[in-house]
Amino acid sequence: MALALATRSSLIAPSATLAMGAEAKKLKARGIEVLDFALGEPDFDTPANIQQAAIRAMQLGQTHYTPPAGISELRSAVAELYTRQHGLATDAAQVVISNGAKHSIHNALMAVCGPGDEVIIPAPYWVSYSDLVKLTGAEPVILATPEESGFKLTPEQFLAAVTRRTRLLMINSPSNPTGVVYSRDELAALADAVLTTDVGVLSDEIYEQLTYGDARATCFATLRPELADRTITISGVSKTYAMTGWRIGWAVAPVSVAKFMGDLQSQETSNPCSISQWAALEAITGPQDSVAVMKAEFQKRRQYVLERIKGLPDVTCLPPGGAFYAFMNVSAHFGRTIRGRPIKNSTDFCMAALSEASVALVMGSAFGAEGYARMSFATDLKTLEKGFDALEKFLAA
Ligand code: PMP
Ligand code: GLU
Repeated sequence: MALALATRSSLIAPSATLAMGAEAKKLKARGIEVLDFALGEPDFDTPANIQQAAIRAMQLGQTHYTPPAGISELRSAVAELYTRQHGLATDAAQVVISNGAKHSIHNALMAVCGPGDEVIIPAPYWVSYSDLVKLTGAEPVILATPEESGFKLTPEQFLAAVTRRTRLLMINSPSNPTGVVYSRDELAALADAVLTTDVGVLSDEIYEQLTYGDARATCFATLRPELADRTITISGVSKTYAMTGWRIGWAVAPVSVAKFMGDLQSQETSNPCSISQWAALEAITGPQDSVAVMKAEFQKRRQYVLERIKGLPDVTCLPPGGAFYAFMNVSAHFGRTIRGRPIKNSTDFCMAALSEASVALVMGSAFGAEGYARMSFATDLKTLEKGFDALEKFLAA
């Protein structure tokens, strides 16, 4: 008899961003030139000083198990970063280093949510949020934030959704997939609404350093003194330092939550890679010039992408204030047939773009928002140019 899967297996689907990325790679392996805008990961090499720190760590024998919540040097450096740069007095005991921010989010949710609980997630949301909530046994409560309201959750909307079972609100500014950056005042209004309830907050600030123009990221926990006790802040080195493969993220949480997350890691993964932790320490404490260089490059690409979207028939896009995604409204194409392919929804649109134009995007439905296609512009200008040329031809067909 085949081994039956636990009922839990029906709760999650593979990450759509990673699945689209894999699909594009498969076509590339068959010799097809794919213009790949599916995955949100910087195309830059990890800066040399960070690579050197990893080599040094190996040569110094930093290749053994570390404490489950991370090396004390890195936990202290993260605490120092929040204390100094964000103005959030943070102790190293509140910091847990994990195998990427995705792992931090999973462990944070495991710490505070379970069966019978509800977690409020404004949509569009990053693909993994709802499935990670479901894995804990809790129920995601998805609140649609329409494009007309700037894809932003309002305090009224939040309060109307709170029930006795609500444990947590998940927010993400700058946002993946929309690039939306809430202003400090907008977040403060949400914070005040949260403080009239017993709800906690998970604030995913992984794109905090990637903002454009006047947009500025806000560390949610700093908005009101009472928030530190009920907020879990998530960030990491993947995006800022082009370190997606090194797998280092962190959570800054109330001590009891951080302690549980460390204990959980001691049972599930032991520790994040020792070498990556030393590299991450160099990333956040070493010279920061490479961050400015990469950010300037993202800025150029963003400008280019917004210009070229204007040339795509019946496609619009709210200019992203941060991160590296263009969340394009493609709904005007629904009900049409492009190159013999009926387009009913964002999945049809993205699958047709991939097979007919070799352009890999991710369907809005994966982010809880039908009608859109996400383009990652963490890709060089040449590829972006070819991609838009191909999309233009595809949509004119
Ligand atoms: N949060 C958001 C919003 C993201 O886009 C990502 C991208 N991978 C993550 C968390 C996780 O990042 P990582 O696990 O690579 O640190
Ligand atoms: N966060 C990136 C994205 O949204 C990486 C993929 C993933 O971790 O799911 O494309």
